[in-house]
Amino acid sequence: MNFDLTPEQEQLRDAVRSLGRRYGHRYFVEKAKAGEHTTELWHEAGRLGYLGVNIPTEYGGGGGGITELALVCEELAAAGCPLLLLVVSPAIAATVITRHGTDEQRKRYLPGLADGSQKIVFAITEPEAGSNFHRLGTVARRDGDDWVVSGRKCYISGVDEAGHVLVVARTEDAASGKLKPALFVVPTDAPGLTWSKLDMEILSPENQFLLYLDDVRLPADALVGQSLDAGLPALFAGLNPERITVAAMGAGTGRYAIERASEYTASRKVWGGRSIGSHQGVSHPLAHAAVQVELARLMIYKAASLYDAGRDLEAGVAGNMAKYATGEAAALAVDTAVQVHGGAGMTTEYGVATLLGAVRAGRIAPVSREMILNFVAQHVLGQDKSY
Ligand SMILES: Cc1cc2nc3c(=O)[nH]c(=O)nc-3n(C[C@H](O)[C@H](O)[C@H](O)COP(=O)(O)OP(=O)(O)OC[C@H]3O[C@@H](n4cnc5c(N)ncnc54)[C@H](O)[C@@H]3O)c2cc1C
Repeated sequence: MNFDLTPEQEQLRDAVRSLGRRYGHRYFVEKAKAGEHTTELWHEAGRLGYLGVNIPTEYGGGGGGITELALVCEELAAAGCPLLLLVVSPAIAATVITRHGTDEQRKRYLPGLADGSQKIVFAITEPEAGSNFHRLGTVARRDGDDWVVSGRKCYISGVDEAGHVLVVARTEDAASGKLKPALFVVPTDAPGLTWSKLDMEILSPENQFLLYLDDVRLPADALVGQSLDAGLPALFAGLNPERITVAAMGAGTGRYAIERASEYTASRKVWGGRSIGSHQGVSHPLAHAAVQVELARLMIYKAASLYDAGRDLEAGVAGNMAKYATGEAAALAVDTAVQVHGGAGMTTEYGVATLLGAVRAGRIAPVSREMILNFVAQHVLGQDKSY
């Protein structure tokens, strides 16, 4: 058993950390408040190769795995820059295309994802289906060689900054009559595709959208893998990297909050010469949050190494547990950091309350804590499904 990063992974972690610190949380908040994106940071990370660490070298990537991408997500978040689109574009879209796209699709999309010049966002959630993906209502039907896709998606992150959306639809299987998932790479300028921004209570430079697909006509090669049999494995291929990297982002955010709080409590004095951090009523909640974040990190990197070793089923269990644990730990860390700052905790200047919305959302998305508990109850504990 070995808990150490390789020298290359340590180098990557340190380099990403220093990039993140050069931008910092103030930059992230200013962009969000101005309604702008963190474009400079994204492009610089792309030029330095950090956005494509998990993409094969033949397509311009770093040839690493989800472990490397998790390090990138964690370190940027630990510097105060939790970038949700890392979870969507390099983690989900690049993995799905690498593992299940055709050669032509890999050549077309991966180089742009690797250098960050292109983003592909991910659309599965629908207003009526919610957590129950079996009820997806976005339908793809064949028309000659083309596909025509119609439906509605919600909470889709980053549509306004992406060239394409990876849309999860369903088709009717002519042989069995069963409905199957099918993934399409849809250009964001395709006729019939429109979107409207959702007002969210999350301070973030990345936004969520309602997406409307109204008879969007796509060529045959927009279907990932160009085979309907690729749909289900392609969808599952994207879910483990999504859970692992979103957890890494949460762990980084937790670390960031605890670091801010520790600095503050070590220097703030309101009772004579003693710091407020000397009072255990202040330091113990912080220490407790630090323990929870560190425990979650162990599960994140266990899940990432299982995934990179090709042990998908075990990575699925560990990735869900990591996502659950980190969602709780990050929310606890940020809430505790706000509390120990007193009034300063609610100011923008101290840069902790600015993360409350994001960590709260981390207990809901991309998969809610309840759905993870359902998964663990059924698949680990062998309980009957109640729904
Ligand atoms: C910031 C943010 C970004 C997002 N980005 C994207 C994106 O880029 N692409 C995308 O496709 N989606 C995205 N989503 C959507 C997200 O994945 C969903 O919100 C999430 O999967 C929950 O679905 P829902 O909102 O429909 O909740 P619902 O399914 O309506 O559930 C509501 C509540 O009921 C609980 N619940 C439902 N069923 C059960 C059950 N059987 N047992 C116990 N509890 C249950 C849920 O846990 C939840 O607490 C994003 C959401 C947010 C908040």
